Amino acid sequence: MDEMTKQRTLRASQPLWAETARISVRTRGKPSRQTYHTIVVGAGISGALVAQAVARPDRPVLVIDRRKPLGGSTMASTAMIQHEIDIPLTALSGMIGVARARRAWQRSAGAVLRLERLVRDLDIACSFERRATLLLAGDEMDGAALGKEAAARRKAGLAAEHLDADGVDARFGLKRDGGIVSDISASANPAQLAAGLLRAAAGNGAEIVSEVEITDVRSLGDRVAVATSAGALIEAAHVVFCTGYEFLKPLESRRHAIVSTWAFASRPKLALPDWLADHIVWEASDPYLYFRLGPEGRLIIGGEDEESSDAYLDEARMARKAARVREKFEALTGIDMGRPAFAWSAAFGTTDTGLPFIDTLSGTNNVHAVMGFGGNGITFSQIASEIIAARIDGHDDPDADLFRFPTR
Ligand SMILES: Cc1cc2nc3c(=O)[nH]c(=O)nc-3n(C[C@H](O)[C@H](O)[C@H](O)COP(=O)(O)OP(=O)(O)OC[C@H]3O[C@@H](n4cnc5c(N)ncnc54)[C@H](O)[C@@H]3O)c2cc1C
Repeated sequence: MDEMTKQRTLRASQPLWAETARISVRTRGKPSRQTYHTIVVGAGISGALVAQAVARPDRPVLVIDRRKPLGGSTMASTAMIQHEIDIPLTALSGMIGVARARRAWQRSAGAVLRLERLVRDLDIACSFERRATLLLAGDEMDGAALGKEAAARRKAGLAAEHLDADGVDARFGLKRDGGIVSDISASANPAQLAAGLLRAAAGNGAEIVSEVEITDVRSLGDRVAVATSAGALIEAAHVVFCTGYEFLKPLESRRHAIVSTWAFASRPKLALPDWLADHIVWEASDPYLYFRLGPEGRLIIGGEDEESSDAYLDEARMARKAARVREKFEALTGIDMGRPAFAWSAAFGTTDTGLPFIDTLSGTNNVHAVMGFGGNGITFSQIASEIIAARIDGHDDPDADLFRFPTR
């Protein structure tokens, strides 16, 4: 049978997180029942958040993945959890209108705060820490453009401090034309975060089945049936596809693309500026460089994206990208990060507006999918869990209109 969600090699090499503790999740080899309240396809951060939001002891949930849990993109994430969307508020306003763009940015900020609360309430040990963000001027936006961007954000009720070149130099010792410092960001170990959420869902009765693929789905009025690669047919009131960059084939769109990205972690205890302990950094450039402090005093750094859906599989590029990122970081900070201790590359989804697609398949009221997550993937997964959980509960989320599936 044709695959429902085109399988890719989602990442190459071993990300830093694969070696950390508390990332294993107890799974079953096959579903124990034939009917569930909700079936969540995909056990990455999106599936984990959706399952956690939906599972209750009286509402059996199945999470099912063709890999082991967290075996997809979630393990590759550098987990800068930002409210800042890749497309600046000023640019997004031109694309979708000021009011909608403001709502998207405000929703993002709220999602970071709600994710922080969730992690605290569930007591998930995943190094979740609130951070400020420093956005540096680059070849896409100079200091003046960042000034306008900061003003637009403040009008939307989002704190954003604009710094000129002297301000950036005085506070951070960096030579750039300007910057924006904003609150409401965080960083975490994405694998521990997703594993903790899956365990919380399991604590509420969710079953997690791994290495079984969903090969077909049929909406039959108020029930949905899915077929598995093991030849089983399972039924539920709702199915949610949280399949990351292996999205459902009918949802292919010109507005959504898979590109290639690279990420690196330095050796431990790199001598880094003190301010990096509470700021994550990115730049208004294309491609952009981003970095943050990781565990054991390592620098986590990434970027160098290429508009190719398979360049990340090319081993020869890895060394070139590592050298380029090292050079850029040294040019900016004067610090040589050395040869990376971890280097990995992966597929990465982008959309024209920087916003994800979170919706219900047309012609059904119970087959939902979440996709199109770019640089704000984790924040968007949180938003997806809120919108989908509301829909499953029979409510409409007031911002659902911002994330509708593209009409090609
Ligand atoms: C290098 C890199 C750096 C990133 N940095 C950041 C960052 O700093 N901040 C941020 O917020 N986001 C970042 N992202 C984005 C973020 O990591 C992703 O948005 C997020 O991990 C996607 O999670 P997911 O659960 O949707 O997908 P995945 O983790 O890929 O999970 C989807 C799962 O679905 C399963 N699946 C697919 N099809 C089927 C099927 N038919 N049947 C059964 N199972 C199926 C797959 O096996 C997979 O395990 C980064 C991504 C990459 C690659």
